Amino acid sequence: MHELSIADALLQIALTHADGRRIERIEVKVGHLRQVVPDALAFAFALVSEGTLAEGATLELDHIPAAGTCRACGATTEFDGFPLACAGCGSLDVELVRGEELLVDALTMEGVASGRR
Ligand SMILES: [Zn+2]
Repeated sequence: MHELSIADALLQIALTHADGRRIERIEVKVGHLRQVVPDALAFAFALVSEGTLAEGATLELDHIPAAGTCRACGATTEFDGFPLACAGCGSLDVELVRGEELLVDALTMEGVASGRR
């Protein structure tokens, strides 16, 4: 299951930043092309975070649409799915500018309202 390895990667990042504090909320930016299923990721995260400082933490996904710039006509297109074709000229020769993100954007720790010390 693809979500399990993603959940584990996110957990490791969160724990590194938690510095021994309990994690309440993790905001994650996920690009469309990662094809993450939110429910599956939440389930996987609950599994891998069990017994850690992130157990019970809320995983909040911020979905980032895929977008690319056409190498033929220069137009930028937002993609809903595959194929990744230019909306202007139909070319498939597009350079991705967004959509492959997978990163922890913010953490909320217990007793730290803003996520900062
Ligand atoms: Zn084009």
